[in-house]
Amino acid sequence: MKNVSIIGSTGSIGRQTLDIIRKDKSIKVIGLSGNNNLELLERQVLEFKPKYVWSPKITSSCWNNSYVMPQEAIAALSENNLVIISTVGSAGLLSTINAINAKRTIAIANKEVLVMAGSIIIEAAKKQGTTILPIDSEHNAIWQCLIGDCNMHAGSTYGPLKRIILTASGGAFRDLPIERLASVSVDEALAHPTWVMGKKITIDCATLMNKGFEVIEARWLFGIDFSKISVLLHRESIIHGMVEFYDGSYKALLSYPDMHMPIQHVLSYPKRPCSEWKQLDLVALKTLSFSELDVNRYPCFKLALSAGRIDGSMSVALNASNEAAVGLFLDKKICFGMIPKIIEKELSNHQIEYNKNIPSIIELDNEIKSRIRRDYT
Ligand code: MG
Repeated sequence: MKNVSIIGSTGSIGRQTLDIIRKDKSIKVIGLSGNNNLELLERQVLEFKPKYVWSPKITSSCWNNSYVMPQEAIAALSENNLVIISTVGSAGLLSTINAINAKRTIAIANKEVLVMAGSIIIEAAKKQGTTILPIDSEHNAIWQCLIGDCNMHAGSTYGPLKRIILTASGGAFRDLPIERLASVSVDEALAHPTWVMGKKITIDCATLMNKGFEVIEARWLFGIDFSKISVLLHRESIIHGMVEFYDGSYKALLSYPDMHMPIQHVLSYPKRPCSEWKQLDLVALKTLSFSELDVNRYPCFKLALSAGRIDGSMSVALNASNEAAVGLFLDKKICFGMIPKIIEKELSNHQIEYNKNIPSIIELDNEIKSRIRRDYT
């Protein structure tokens, strides 16, 4: 029996994780946490009967027969074999570090946590000897490509790797004339061509901030220099990640674009059970295409890479200003073209600090987000 807690169970990844657990009787749900969707959390609690639950909206100490405790405490429970971090934005940082310090194995979908505090998280994982399993489809694919050639330990250095290739669909606006980009609507930005995901990440895909974050995420997860990470435009989203070796060989992972696939992989690793999710039909697909990314379409991608290279508190400022700007766009307070402008202004005014700890990262994150929200509402 595998005991699993899901931090952020009402979001897109959390719900898909429960879809898999519903069909797999060898997994028991120990803890669930959600943010605002109390109605869905209640349905999940009644169905999966976790011992522990958390939402900021619950004020009692017991709720639907589950004990209420903070999600960062649920993440560190000794009953957990695996903690799924499926929160969005900075919300999962404390739970991630607590789970690692409690020597739990974590599966991480919340890439912002690695953008904000990658070096602290990887150092803590090395010190505690814990494993970080990537759920993000590209990183999960790269990890699968590395199995057999390299041992997967978060923060390891991969000698034989020439480079890692992350594929990018190009998001909702990959074919839109560049002059129309600044004024697209929220609904247009939420129409992703290949993936069905939560709202925040879908906007990050449209700006390509998501891919910039994923380069930073790969840098930390695989302990590899930025110069060895490439991004290729791959419109079909069938190849999720590739690894190139020095002998000229490539390994790639292909599957239908459905997040159930990488989630099932981390839930059942090292086993590989059958699945009922949509299977790939290569003959129907006929072709796979690749092209260079036109970075001039995507100022957020360039901002992410330059902030990621500087690192320190610059990465915290990158994530916080993006989270605030995307929130303002979703609330229709700013136009799409303002997202990179707000981030660029924040980064160019930012006073870099190194060696920050988790409490001071959270403080800086809150300060930047509330200041930007105040300035634009
Ligand atoms: Mg991804």
